[in-house]
Amino acid sequence: MNVIQLLMIHIVEPMTIKPSDKRKKPYTQLGIRRFKCFRKGCNNQAIHQWSICSDGNVQRPICLECDIILNKIVLQFMEFDNVDELIERYIKEN
Ligand SMILES: [Zn+2]
Repeated sequence: MNVIQLLMIHIVEPMTIKPSDKRKKPYTQLGIRRFKCFRKGCNNQAIHQWSICSDGNVQRPICLECDIILNKIVLQFMEFDNVDELIERYIKEN
């Protein structure tokens, strides 16, 4: 992310715009940061997005903390043998 993109994030006033309940096309890396995390009770700024088939594949803005939790839940559900290792690597990359 360059300096202009960082400035734009602040100009757009993150967290004041509501995300669409219909958007299936992924937001850009910059665009997703305009929103709060979709998880109820979480007011963090979104930096990732998730779509869920049973939710109509709508793009839902997600903050880093919730994204990591979701990743861990999915890895555990799928019974990966190296959940902690994968999550630690993912945290370092983000
Ligand atoms: Zn969150």
